[in-house]
Amino acid sequence: MRLRCRACGKDHPEAQDICACGGPLDLEGFAPAVHREMFAGRGLWRFLPALPLAGAEPLRLGEGSTPMPRVASLGAWYKCEYLQTTGSFKDRGAAVLVTKAKQLGAQRVVEDSSGNAGAAIAAYAAAGRLPADIFVPEWATEPKMRAVQALGATVHKIPGPRRGVTEAAIRFCREQRAYFASHVFPPWFIQGTKTAAYEIAEDCGFQAPDAVVAPGAMGTIVIGLHKGFEELRRAGLVAHVPRLYLGQAQGFAPVVQTLHGAQPPGEENRIADGLLIAEPPRLRQMVDAVKGTGGDAAAIDKGHTERALAGLHRQGLLVEPSSAVAHAALERFREEGAIRKDERVVVMLSGRFK
Ligand SMILES: [Zn+2]
Repeated sequence: MRLRCRACGKDHPEAQDICACGGPLDLEGFAPAVHREMFAGRGLWRFLPALPLAGAEPLRLGEGSTPMPRVASLGAWYKCEYLQTTGSFKDRGAAVLVTKAKQLGAQRVVEDSSGNAGAAIAAYAAAGRLPADIFVPEWATEPKMRAVQALGATVHKIPGPRRGVTEAAIRFCREQRAYFASHVFPPWFIQGTKTAAYEIAEDCGFQAPDAVVAPGAMGTIVIGLHKGFEELRRAGLVAHVPRLYLGQAQGFAPVVQTLHGAQPPGEENRIADGLLIAEPPRLRQMVDAVKGTGGDAAAIDKGHTERALAGLHRQGLLVEPSSAVAHAALERFREEGAIRKDERVVVMLSGRFK
């Protein structure tokens, strides 16, 4: 296996965490062994043959096998990714990423995050007995920071724009000879999030749903879903890849901008605090996942997010505002007729209310 930079095309060994040019790395020369037998049992680690971790010792905290209830009054299935170890879908990615970092010989891991990825990396670093440093923007919410600290990681608050947080984390990595356990730049995290697609297919009796709606910031859900469903299709386990739809926070909607030429004007939606990413490094892949499956992306404002959140809470789904953006996007696409009422739709509920 080798890693290839998406930005400049340079090849790197597996232990590289980011290209010198600043580009994210893709995995080359790995053929996942996707087959029906791997669905026996429970949890993420039953999918080990489909993960690039041969010979690694998995870090286990109960990740994966999240429930997917159908909520009749909302007319959709809700994949409860918030019901994981640290309360978000990021546990899937962190389990695979930190397991890989340990296999690669990392002595210390560093991540930059607004909260959920930081907590997930901190938890798996604790499980793997690795010190962790989490770089966060100064507006990161207190409950999320407390979780990171409770898990034993060191929090570094960085003022200024979100990009500066990433840059500070990278500088720290180089100074400390630490591994940049980013959920964006090395390819391992997305190998973890793709397992959500496996579980959705399984829960649908291997009849892929018509559409999946996810919140979108760095794109690790939607890129993972695209990869996972494509692998299932190639293995003959599902007949088609669902249309993938994204809800983005208004003012932070680069996929909407790419697909539609502009973002709708209006106030920034900052209550979706997990989605405040204006320049995701894997934007091209996010667009490909949405456009390539016949889906779309919508920018959701604060008011709609609040109404969608209240609606989910009334159903007993205790999610955070960033998750409600996906439900709001489903409502939008139904109004527009892009998703029909009689279609089978799954909404990704990415993070727990904190
Ligand atoms: Zn590069």
